[in-house]
Amino acid sequence: MEDKFAYWHGIPREEIEWNSTIDESKCVGCGMCFISCGKKVFDYDFERKKSVVARPLQCMVGCTSCEVWCVFDAISFPDSQYVKNLIKERGILKEVRKKLEELRKSGNIQK
Ligand code: SF4
Ligand code: SF4
Repeated sequence: MEDKFAYWHGIPREEIEWNSTIDESKCVGCGMCFISCGKKVFDYDFERKKSVVARPLQCMVGCTSCEVWCVFDAISFPDSQYVKNLIKERGILKEVRKKLEELRKSGNIQK
């Protein structure tokens, strides 16, 4: 089930326009994206033999793995500059630096 309360670096996930889109005219239903996505973004329609973007908000912001995996070039994403701008405009690097410093002080090298 989709977690509507998920955040990405403090930003409500539903405010972030980042997810895979399938061009059904190119999708041959090989299932690679459905089987491989660790975030369970896709369902598979066995009748139509197509993968379906069922849980777009579960897509990891900035991930484009399934675009690479789809040898039929049926999957696309917004321009990666959108995510880079988000990181700059929402001060995410500041928060990351803070977390790094917390980890350094705690002597913990794992997140
Ligand atoms: S990997 Fe591409 S062709 Fe295969 S099911 Fe996914 S979108 Fe369709
Ligand atoms: S980009 Fe990554 S997280 Fe998003 S649907 Fe593709 S494989 Fe899953």
